[in-house]
Amino acid sequence: MRAAVVRNQSDGYVDIVEKQLRPLRDNEALVDVEYCGVCHTDLHVANGDFGEQPGRVIGHEGIGIVREIGADVHSLKVGDRVSIAWFFEGCGHCEYCTTGRETFCREAKNAGYTVDGAMAEQAIVVADYTVKVPDNLDLVAASSITCAGVTTYKAIKESKIRPGEWLTVFGAGGLGNLAIQYAKNVFNAKLAVVDINDDKLALAQKLGADLVINSSKEDPAKIIQERCGGAQAAVVTAVAKAAFNAAVDCLKAGGVLVAVALPVDTMDLSIPRVVLDGIQVIGSLVGTRNDLAEAFQFAADGQVKPIVQTRRLDEVNDIIDEMRAGQIEGRMVVDMHK
Ligand SMILES: [Zn+2]
Ligand SMILES: [Zn+2]
Repeated sequence: MRAAVVRNQSDGYVDIVEKQLRPLRDNEALVDVEYCGVCHTDLHVANGDFGEQPGRVIGHEGIGIVREIGADVHSLKVGDRVSIAWFFEGCGHCEYCTTGRETFCREAKNAGYTVDGAMAEQAIVVADYTVKVPDNLDLVAASSITCAGVTTYKAIKESKIRPGEWLTVFGAGGLGNLAIQYAKNVFNAKLAVVDINDDKLALAQKLGADLVINSSKEDPAKIIQERCGGAQAAVVTAVAKAAFNAAVDCLKAGGVLVAVALPVDTMDLSIPRVVLDGIQVIGSLVGTRNDLAEAFQFAADGQVKPIVQTRRLDEVNDIIDEMRAGQIEGRMVVDMHK
């Protein structure tokens, strides 16, 4: 089968190679991959940013059909529609795994990074860690929910925003456009969106943002403080230190900043601001299996519609270039049959 693997020199690109999968273990399933989206995390893996993984099959926005199951598998059957997500498997018994925080398991395995992922015609999954896709959810859309969707859904959930409160989303790109839809259509928040790209802001407005701000032209914190009395929460999906700093400044007292993007940087955080205004800063990492099932269901119910385009497997390096150049609106999803 064909697969997109990290190059030996970890130069940020992948090679499409013929690969033989190992035999299935008893708790695993073999999946015929239908679609797999390309995420910024794949770019980091291809670049060796988290440690070099030459030969690793990338991809953690995979959707496919179960072709074969191991002898001990009871949670899946042949023909099921399943997802292959970044959180591939936890240890199952640590304090994180047993308290609904499994993505922080110290032994967690990650698809497309520490184990082979879904940017391939076939993939192996651990059956009990695989989340099924609802029957009425389009498979291309499901691909985008598997990472970008659940990541933003979980981040907003972590912010504890209540209906009618102001939430600010920094970054209206591949993650941001889904954050906007979950924030408006599921959490019923008042929504301000900050980006440096007018086209992305126009899209944010179309998706229901109540206020859009171009931070290359205007000061978002000043506007949000003046017009909204400060935001109760900010979700930062923009990969820039400046966005994190502006996010702190746009919060009202008691506000919550949820960090999602991963710029390799430190943010400026005034200690008096944190103490005197009771500001909380929390990190949110993808979502648990249960979060993903919830995120899928909202999309299946039509409340969230990912913006996706399908491409061919041999176009992955072109997609990587387009993502680096910031040219992509929504998500590029590889169709394994195209
Ligand atoms: Zn991802
Ligand atoms: Zn664990």
